[in-house]
Amino acid sequence: MDPLKALADAERKPYWLDSPAKPEPLPRLLKDTTADLAVVGGGFSGLWAALMAKERDPSLNVVLLEGRGIGWAASGRNGGFAVASLTHGLANGLERWPEEITTLERLGRANLDEIGEAVGRYGIDCAYERTGELHVATEPWQLDEMRESVQAARELGLGYDVLDRDEVRAEVNSPTYVGGYWERDGCAMIDPARLAWGLRRACLELGVRVYENTPVRHIRDSRATMDLVTPRGTVRAAKVALGTGVFQPLLRRLKHFLVPVYDYALMTEPLSEEQLASVGWRNRQGVGDSANQFHYYRLTADNRILWGGYDAVYYNGGRIKPEYEQRDETFAKLAEHFFTTFPQLDGVRFTHRWGGVIDTCSRFSAFYGHAHGGRLAYAVGYTGLGVAATRFGANVMLDLLAGEPTERTELRMVREKPIPFPPEPVRSAGIQMTRWSLARADLHEGRRNLWLRTLDRMGLGFDS
Ligand SMILES: Cc1cc2nc3c(=O)[nH]c(=O)nc-3n(C[C@H](O)[C@H](O)[C@H](O)COP(=O)(O)OP(=O)(O)OC[C@H]3O[C@@H](n4cnc5c(N)ncnc54)[C@H](O)[C@@H]3O)c2cc1C
Repeated sequence: MDPLKALADAERKPYWLDSPAKPEPLPRLLKDTTADLAVVGGGFSGLWAALMAKERDPSLNVVLLEGRGIGWAASGRNGGFAVASLTHGLANGLERWPEEITTLERLGRANLDEIGEAVGRYGIDCAYERTGELHVATEPWQLDEMRESVQAARELGLGYDVLDRDEVRAEVNSPTYVGGYWERDGCAMIDPARLAWGLRRACLELGVRVYENTPVRHIRDSRATMDLVTPRGTVRAAKVALGTGVFQPLLRRLKHFLVPVYDYALMTEPLSEEQLASVGWRNRQGVGDSANQFHYYRLTADNRILWGGYDAVYYNGGRIKPEYEQRDETFAKLAEHFFTTFPQLDGVRFTHRWGGVIDTCSRFSAFYGHAHGGRLAYAVGYTGLGVAATRFGANVMLDLLAGEPTERTELRMVREKPIPFPPEPVRSAGIQMTRWSLARADLHEGRRNLWLRTLDRMGLGFDS
């Protein structure tokens, strides 16, 4: 089937958010109030921060302010890969923080375990499945890089199962695969919107006051309190946690470190039993391929395939606009790649197509900090891998606000900041040059040109 025909009836909205489980919005803040802790942002960062603040101290007066609806942004529209890595993958972590990678991997796995425990404890129905991730190579040159990753993982005692061509195809049947490895323990699949809505319910049950459609316009430091000004009321809070992702930062300095990058995805209709049998996929792993421009894909509870990634688009000027959430050129490419990967699924149709914005920083993994004499903390910059890591980041924010050093706050990863992006128009020119170079490297057996090698040496880059 022509890929465009398969897309013809796809709705232009995120599949996960288009669900009967979506709760009614909570009322907006209509008058002034006070709080011990005000959390800004109702994505995973803010939700975990509010929830865990109450878990740490049930008597704390916690308010969460969300500018639109809980989980409407990246948190409710992502691939749903809850990955243990806190460093956007082992290779990036090893490159940047080799001396603490063992600790970072241990903390990342504990964080993922604790997400599973919280899902169970609060009875959150988010189709949580700890299936691990299958990393597949589609070109021989990718196998060399894979061997390095597997070797490094083994030295750290992490169990990665190497699969040859036939073994990987026995897991998931695609004629494009030439090998791969299965990281069995490092990833869980979730329905992200249901996780966000479940966390909202858990917050309410513990007594967090959640206000939706309540954007914080600015924060004033009045010495006695931090005053969060919203259209209809001000919250006077002792402390503030910012989980505002890539949006206009309430702390000006953050804008130098973050760029909005759009990532796109498709969802198929549910596969029939015969269609699913033709792909295999009995172990239901999340799958990622291994070029610089990579795809990620997975099954849903009702056996649809979510298929996303490849193009990571930076729109010159770095604006965030609703119209950027749809990009037909990218959807057509994704649909074509889907049928190249699974020719046996010819005839399957897509029901949803959407995009979303991620908070990219130059080190690809979140950075953390505080301001206003330790009364405001932030964690941002997850660069497309924040489903699980945001919970770690929320814990770091609470640690920083408590003012007591912890294992987390002592990490070099937590203390250091990424290199800032240059101002526009150099920023756009540099990012587009990098995107072009990465696409070329994929066409030339992974060979990195002078531009990429220079960025590598500076510890800079662009990813999603
Ligand atoms: C298409 C796509 C696929 C992805 N796939 C994956 C994946 O499979 N695995 C993975 O790990 N990661 C993935 N990610 C990234 C992941 O979704 C994010 O890293 C994570 O959700 C970030 O959560 P957050 O809470 O920090 O930010 P967000 O979810 O963006 O939430 C920030 C919230 O803050 C609110 N806000 C901002 N400013 C204000 C203000 N002034 N006042 C009030 N509220 C405010 C916003 O309205 C928003 O709701 C993907 C992202 C996208 C877009």
